[in-house]
Amino acid sequence: MMNVAVIGSGTMGNGIAHVFAQHGFSVALIDINQSALDKALGTIGKNLDRQVAKGSLSEADKTATLGRITSYTSLAEGVHNVELVVEAATENVDLKLQIFRDLDQHAPQNAILASNTSSISITKIAAVTKRADKIIGMHFMNPVPVMKLVEVIRGYATSDEVTSRIMEISRQLGKTPTEVNDYPGFVANRILMPMINEAIITLFEGVAGVEEIDTVMKLGMAHPMGPLQLADFIGLDVCLAILRVLHEGLGNPKYAPCPLLVNMVMAGRLGVKSGEGFYTWGHGTKDLIVAERFKK
Ligand code: NAD
Repeated sequence: MMNVAVIGSGTMGNGIAHVFAQHGFSVALIDINQSALDKALGTIGKNLDRQVAKGSLSEADKTATLGRITSYTSLAEGVHNVELVVEAATENVDLKLQIFRDLDQHAPQNAILASNTSSISITKIAAVTKRADKIIGMHFMNPVPVMKLVEVIRGYATSDEVTSRIMEISRQLGKTPTEVNDYPGFVANRILMPMINEAIITLFEGVAGVEEIDTVMKLGMAHPMGPLQLADFIGLDVCLAILRVLHEGLGNPKYAPCPLLVNMVMAGRLGVKSGEGFYTWGHGTKDLIVAERFKK
């Protein structure tokens, strides 16, 4: 049984730990916050229950999966015997650089150190370690147990051997890995975020309303949800931060964030997590109700 560690037990970390444990890996789940760890274990239990209820997992497999996850608040303790670390802590450059300095010191010399970052340069992270060839991006999608893609991001110095090992491990998790190079936004967000931004510009310029824009993209392009609804789910602050990475990193004005998006973030209208974005979410996420200020 291969030992892995997952750093950060929030939205992504709990899903990543779940998927590794379900596929037979022994998982050290590490967070600085004990209550985040408790919450993550509760969420993993509930998500496994759902798989049992659907008949896609046996009760025995559920128990075995939970038995393969151990939680830690100390990074040094959690990573001392692992072959792979997947870092999924808060999206903050300085925080991630510090975590990778610590990992470089405490994880075994041969261990591969992966990051689930959405927008931070893998090459920049690699540069603070003494093992740049073993630093790689492993970008899972939310919700991790459901979504098939792993965007595997090769930093400037990532070795062929490490890349093929991560492709192979991703397949062992039942995922479809896709290899891309390390440039701002990688592939997923480089294409998704400009689409979301263009939807917001279309609204800002009064070409169409919230419902009309989302309906065109849902029914016309067979997207499971419209770009404005998706932006509310991702968090408008997250969308803005990634657009800024694209704008700054690629230097092309086509990535400039729409002024309406900037205003909404400054006003604290962040989407689902704040209760309002393009839609209002106080009643939950089942029904789509356009926010008052965008009603016609
Ligand atoms: P989150 O805020 O839900 O969870 C982050 C967790 O990291 C928290 O529990 C926090 O306590 C913990 N943490 C902070 N500092 C830490 C440290 N020094 N050591 C250990 N744990 C620490 O965030 P999230 O949405 O799960 O995002 C995590 C990463 O995944 C980010 O890099 C993000 O860009 C990326 N990502 C997120 C999504 C998404 O849809 N949420 C999708 C793909 C990638």
